[in-house]
Amino acid sequence: MPDSQNLTKAPRPEAAGVAKAGAARPAPVGAEADSPAVEFRNIDIAYGKFVAVRDFSLSIRKGSFVTLLGPSGCGKTTILRSIAGLVDISGGQIMIDGRRVDDVPIYKRNIGLVFQSYALFPHKTVFDNVAFGLKYRNVPKPEIKRRVGKALEMVRLPGSEKKLPSQLSGGQQQRIALARAIVFEPQVLLLDEPLSALDANMREEMRVEIKKIQKETGITAIFVTHDQEEALSMSDRIVVMNAGSAEQVGTPEEVYEAPATAFVADFLGKANMLAGTVSGSGQATSVVLASGQTINVACPRTLAQGSKVTVVVRPQKLSVGEAASANRLSGRVVSASYLGGSAIYEVDIGGKTNIRAHAPISGRVLREGEAIDLGFDPEGCVLLDGDGQRIS
Ligand code: ATP
Repeated sequence: MPDSQNLTKAPRPEAAGVAKAGAARPAPVGAEADSPAVEFRNIDIAYGKFVAVRDFSLSIRKGSFVTLLGPSGCGKTTILRSIAGLVDISGGQIMIDGRRVDDVPIYKRNIGLVFQSYALFPHKTVFDNVAFGLKYRNVPKPEIKRRVGKALEMVRLPGSEKKLPSQLSGGQQQRIALARAIVFEPQVLLLDEPLSALDANMREEMRVEIKKIQKETGITAIFVTHDQEEALSMSDRIVVMNAGSAEQVGTPEEVYEAPATAFVADFLGKANMLAGTVSGSGQATSVVLASGQTINVACPRTLAQGSKVTVVVRPQKLSVGEAASANRLSGRVVSASYLGGSAIYEVDIGGKTNIRAHAPISGRVLREGEAIDLGFDPEGCVLLDGDGQRIS
């Protein structure tokens, strides 16, 4: 199949010299009560001596849309390919629908694949491209015709059967690739950065389309991207990856509003990370920032005075002007970007790091050098300890 072109298989585990996973390992991150569609149990994947994925565990609920999100090289594609059997795991187990599949060959796994590069057969018509997986599975001709027609309707390209891929736009080709992947009703649909080759408008349109088709078909989808907006807007759950491991698993709201670590906070949405020292701990924790200003942060734990912490505040949680917020930071505008109804300000509040605020405009846009007051509530931020782990 074209899907498997240019994909390098990992060496056998024995050759990689990576130990098999031990028996006593922790329960999977994000385990579901229902029987999972896909389950990774402490998998390791190595390319030669380089371990690309380490002790990765995850349970994916049937019919859900799960995104592996992370920076380039963190192992997203490697994990995705391991589901299809395109790379070997060197430790742990992969289960699909409760069945262990580590030793099941690619062609026997019922998996649909969509890649960034479309990977359509250029000289075959749309019909033959979409029908490929069905012919391969010996489905009778009338049934192939019916299913191809239905898949093309689903991706909103009915009647395009006789066209060649070269007669279609990038977005249309990607729709055909999607039709080809769903036409044989796979157990799992794997999408590896399917939108990155498209222009911005088409990308947004396809986000909505893919999500709609996934919901309509009820198929379990695993999506790989390094684009946080894509992940936040499309996913039921997001797995934030860092250096071959899952850093946090949660709903888009959870990973955005309550990042578990400094890495997640920073990777998702340009958070302000304000270093400070605890000066008092009661109903709220008081933190003296590097700028000398003190703020209060909601925290369920009592923290020792003098503890080093980082206050994480999203730019959207900061108000500008006289709003009655419990915390107030005063500074000067370093830069202002007008965005229509709102503006992004970079503000010098003293100390080494400037603060970024993204707030609706009340009155006029402040100019560079003008004094500015930023407000936010103690509940509107997250507190990280000295090791970058969330404490509130
Ligand atoms: P990107 O977003 O850039 O595609 P990714 O998170 O999907 O990145 P992977 O492609 O899974 O990352 O790669 C994880 C690590 O494994 C990277 O360091 C990469 O260089 C390495 N790697 C991937 N494929 C191979 C291979 N065939 N041989 C050797 N190393 C590889």
